[in-house]
Parts: sequence; C-alpha cells; structure tokens
Amino acid sequence: MRLRLFILCLFLCCLSTAMAEKVKVRIFSNNTISSVTVSFDLGQYNVLANDSLLVESTLGEGASLTVKPAGGKVSVTSDGYNYGSFDRVRFQATDTACILCINPSNVKQRTYEGDLIITATKQNTLLLINEVEFETYIAGVVQSEIYGNLTDIFRVQATISRTWALKNINKHIKEGYNFCDHVHCQAYLNRCVRPDIMLGTMQSSGVTIVDADGHLIETPFHSNSGGETANSEDVWRNALPYLRSVQDTFSFRMRQSDWTKTMTKDQWLGYFAKKHKLNTSDSAIRDSLLSFSQAHRKARILGVPLTKVRLDLQLKSTFFSVSYDSVSGKVTLSGHGYGHGVGLSQEGTIRMAQLGIAYDSIIRHYYSGARLNFNPDSPKNYVENYIQQIEKIIEDDKQQKTQVKSKKDDWLGRLFRVRDREEREEVYDESKQDNDSDWQFKFGEADTTATMKQAVPIR
Ligand SMILES: [Zn+2]
Repeated sequence: MRLRLFILCLFLCCLSTAMAEKVKVRIFSNNTISSVTVSFDLGQYNVLANDSLLVESTLGEGASLTVKPAGGKVSVTSDGYNYGSFDRVRFQATDTACILCINPSNVKQRTYEGDLIITATKQNTLLLINEVEFETYIAGVVQSEIYGNLTDIFRVQATISRTWALKNINKHIKEGYNFCDHVHCQAYLNRCVRPDIMLGTMQSSGVTIVDADGHLIETPFHSNSGGETANSEDVWRNALPYLRSVQDTFSFRMRQSDWTKTMTKDQWLGYFAKKHKLNTSDSAIRDSLLSFSQAHRKARILGVPLTKVRLDLQLKSTFFSVSYDSVSGKVTLSGHGYGHGVGLSQEGTIRMAQLGIAYDSIIRHYYSGARLNFNPDSPKNYVENYIQQIEKIIEDDKQQKTQVKSKKDDWLGRLFRVRDREEREEVYDESKQDNDSDWQFKFGEADTTATMKQAVPIR
C-alpha cells in the first residue's frame, strides 16, 4: 500500500513538473515604480543577485526587502542595511507554496505566486517581472477580467484567456517577458484568491479554441454586445470566419446593456464638420446625422467609421441611435452594450451560465464554427485530483461560513498543503497516517527565522 502511494506520489510529482511551464509577466506595467518593498506571505524564498545567492532560502514569512533603482542597477536594503547594487535581483520561490506581497511606494500592494525578477529601466525606474506557472497566471487573469459566481463563467473566460495567451506567447518577448499585466495583453492584477475561479480554470486545463484547420483562434471579448455582436472587419481590418455578428439576447438586461449620452446639436454636428469634413449645412446630411439609427449594427455613419466616432467621443459602444429634441436643442445617443462588440460578450456569458447553458456551447455561440481542442499531453489525472481537492475546500467553506479565517488558513494555503503532502509526505514522513481531514501540516515550521549570508536581521 505504502509503495503504491509512493509511486503515485512520484507520478504526481512528474505531472506537476510537466505542468510547470512558466511565463514571465511584467507587473505594474502601467505604473512608474521608483521603490518597492517585497515581503513574504507564504513559503520560503531565496534572493539571488546577478544569479548568485544573496539571502538563503530560509527567508520566510514576515521578512521584507526594499529595492530601488540605482544608476542602471537595483539596490537592495533591509532595515537600514544595504546589500549593495546589482544588475538583477530575483526572489526565487523554493517550492510551489510561495506567495510574495509586492508593495510599491506609490501603488496599492498586490500578492503574486512564483518568482519576482527586478531590474532597472533606462529611465531609472524599476521593471518588475513575475515568473509564474502558466495556469496560475490564467487563474489570475480570469479573476481580473470577469465577475460572477458560477464556475462555468470562469471556465469560459479561462479557455479564451488561455487560447489568447498561447497564441500571443511572444507578444513582449523582445522586451524580455511574455505579457504585460494590463489590458494591452490581459489584466493580471493579483494572484487568484478565489477557489471557484481556480476550479473553473483547472476544469478547462488543456482546453483551447481552434478553427476548422486546428489553429488557435483570436479570442477577442468585450463587456456586453448590446444584443448583437460585431463582424471583425467592421471594427478591425481582417474578416475572420469565426468572428461573425450573431444575435445575442443574453446580453440584454445586464449591468452594461444600455447607455445614453447627451450633447448639444452643435457639438454633434460640429464633430462631423470639423473632424470628417462633412457639409453639415446641407439639410440632407444634417438630417441623416440627427436621425441615425441602428436596428442592427452598422459599421459607418455617412461613410465615417463608427469605431472612429466611438473613440473620439468616448462612447461605450458603436451600437447606438440618435434622437434630436428641437425644443431643448439636445442630441441624445441611446446605445447598447459596452466594448468593441467582437467575439464573446462577457455579460452574455454570465447570463448563459445562469441559464444552465454548457460552457462549450457558450464558446461556440460567440466564436462561429470554432471548436474546442483538448491537449492530450495535458496531465489529466493530476488536474482531476486537483479539482477534487478544490471542490472539497469550497464545500468546507460553505459549511463553515461564519468561521473567521486567518491569512495562513486561506484556501490556497490549504490547497498548497494538500498538494505538498501528496508530493512530499510519503517520502519524508513514512510514519504519518493518511488522513484527508488533517490540515495540520505547516510550511517552514522548523525554521521561520531568516538566515542570511550576512548576519543581518530581516523582519
Ligand atoms: Zn502587453
């Protein structure tokens, strides 16, 4: 029995390694960072300077270091002690159960799993890169990109975000990382802290969306289609067969379904006269602009691309109609939806999931003719085991709603303990009995004191 468990553990370790493909994500990419304090929320970290060990791996919870740019290099200090300046500093997780708290001087702090690499920019600011397991990154993206409370919502978002990431893996490669953490790539504004989002991500692990030829598709999405999605060529240059306009009543009666914007007649007509050289003193042109309507999505208004109008006038969507009140002299744009309208509507997805529509049907609704592809190399058994553990944690949480949890007892910490127990305990502690309800295993219990190369206290 023990031997079988040991073999199983080795198997899980191998699968875990197979899954551990990492990506580099530039975090705080939209901010100018001139100083950052890094502390350790869970697990133990090495700190490497120019690839050499600066601080040993017992650096654990509660410890913190401050990093600042220093003339093309980065300086590392702690509690007044200066470790020196280096080309590059890496906070290296010693196992999978490691969480960093990253606190820039001028931006709200965030937590991330995995490694953190810090270098200086030519502008003497800091460049922060989170090196993290791919699926952990995807779960963080899902948490940042969509709201809701049904696992299938997160399953859909994880599938389109994974497909996008794999198709665009080299987006920032010339700059030394794969993705930024902003909407330019995909928002990744924290580690995933919700078990239901991690569950949806894991349930779709290995699944991507491909076209009829088996190639990864572009997977644009937007907040709300307003009732009808847009053709890709009406918004961007290329007509893609899977990005066709579809009727989307699921986007009705949601947060972003409708909007209005009011302006004066002169502002509305003046915009077309000045910006697009339309002769608005011509009554036919003026009437067309004041009575423009869209029962279905159009691409242009008097030859002017609606995408341009949306951008210039900061409208929520291009799917609007115009009404003019001659008494008040006001023009009102009454619009539907939020975003470019191409591909998947997130609020339509939420509605479809609420109606019990399967996640693969939701994806096929928005990406015409596309199909789901499951990577046979994906470690299915490992994922299934992981899913079971998360489902158990969600179930436990439901039953203990009133229980106040400490930070260390959050779901991810428990999940880490489960995973690590499977990977290690059978190897290191043969005497320990199997007990699924045993949550007592703790990380770094033996040594929570930071040990340094230099004898410097770190708090
Ligand atoms: Zn980017």
